[in-house]
Amino acid sequence: MSPYGLDAQDWRALEDEVLALFTAILRVDTTNPPGDETACALVLRDYLAANGLRSELVGELPERQNLVARLPGRRPGPTMVLMGHMDVVPADAAEWTVPPFAGVVKDGFVWGCGATDMKNQLAAEAVAVARLARSGADFAGELVYIASVDEEDGTHCGVRWLCEHRPDLIRCDYLLNEGVGGLWLPIDGRRVYLLAVGEKAFAQFRIRTRGAGGHASLPEKEHSAVIDLARAVVALGLHDPPAIVSPMTARFIDALAGDGLRERLKDPATARDAVRELRAADAEVAGLIEPLLGATFTPTILAAGKAVNVIPTHAEASVDCRILPEMTLEETRALVADVLEPLGIEWELEWIDATEPNASPAPTPLSESIERVLRRDVPDATLVPMCAGSFTDSRWVREAFPDCVAYGFAPFPTEDLRTMEGGRDHSPDERVRVEDVTYQALFFERVVRDLLA
Ligand SMILES: [Zn+2]
Repeated sequence: MSPYGLDAQDWRALEDEVLALFTAILRVDTTNPPGDETACALVLRDYLAANGLRSELVGELPERQNLVARLPGRRPGPTMVLMGHMDVVPADAAEWTVPPFAGVVKDGFVWGCGATDMKNQLAAEAVAVARLARSGADFAGELVYIASVDEEDGTHCGVRWLCEHRPDLIRCDYLLNEGVGGLWLPIDGRRVYLLAVGEKAFAQFRIRTRGAGGHASLPEKEHSAVIDLARAVVALGLHDPPAIVSPMTARFIDALAGDGLRERLKDPATARDAVRELRAADAEVAGLIEPLLGATFTPTILAAGKAVNVIPTHAEASVDCRILPEMTLEETRALVADVLEPLGIEWELEWIDATEPNASPAPTPLSESIERVLRRDVPDATLVPMCAGSFTDSRWVREAFPDCVAYGFAPFPTEDLRTMEGGRDHSPDERVRVEDVTYQALFFERVVRDLLA
């Protein structure tokens, strides 16, 4: 048997190389906060150096250094970045069946905090770059490898910092990073792979209400900050903004939804009802489509009053809101006003963390390369562009370099999204199949060879 066109011995050698590096970086605890990614960057630096690649460590803080390595091609051409973040979210060892920072390989899986988010991709990309360097591959342009810090919490001294302070290191034409891209669902006998071309952005805000204060023995019903805030929270929390079905979302629905609901999902007038039905029938597909239908409002923090016998004059609620690439903050404010104005209350909105969302076009030479390589290795694969519901660092790169095409993609050739129960990021027993992470290294190498041919 020759897996993905390699003979058995070459595949085994690739697997050994990927596992050695992958488990080594899983064993470095990069929990963020506080981060401490430099120790992980040094493991990557030593591995790249052993393969003839020089790396630069740069960053704002000594313990939080980003690593950048460059491999120039033989003739002029585009610059391609393979990127990943080294930090991971906190893990509670009591919830795990293996120690989260032991880099355990068992039952055909690699286990550890960061196994899918995203030390797998970091290791696979590094091995791809090393193999290209060792083989003296003939390609155009330049290949850049970036292992970044501070993605999970903060996003200040990582990719955003690089874009602001060292744009010379990160400026590129093409970027591959994380996202839900590379996960797939079996649909009508095909494997439909998600390609994340953009992501929803934060538009988190605080709603503040004001009212008449006074002694709580005399109830204030007409103009109470607390009662008005409660009404605002209920109204926003239960509100589904009018559905938006962009051309990309319509194509995404075509690729994923069954005949029964497809047309109703694509019609903004019926999309909300249709996605509710879909949720009961197929939670995974509904979970991918529903966030693409518009903004979401999730009230999370409430604050009012200091003493039980005093009516407070103001109250506030924090709302986690995520918006689509085609939306602006002003439109989002208008959506909130549409919900709150009819209540007749006195309110104001303050942004907490708000970023303008962005997305890259598709198809592009990069998406075509991805599709060509994937189809050769996984013959029943099709690629469907989509917008990820959660944030990634690709947003900073697109903002800094508007011509850059940035996608989230790392393909899993064996396990699908249902088997992975919607994905394992940020979960106890985060793990990836040995075959999947090994193939990812081969995939990145082949995409570089194809795109920069
Ligand atoms: Zn991540």
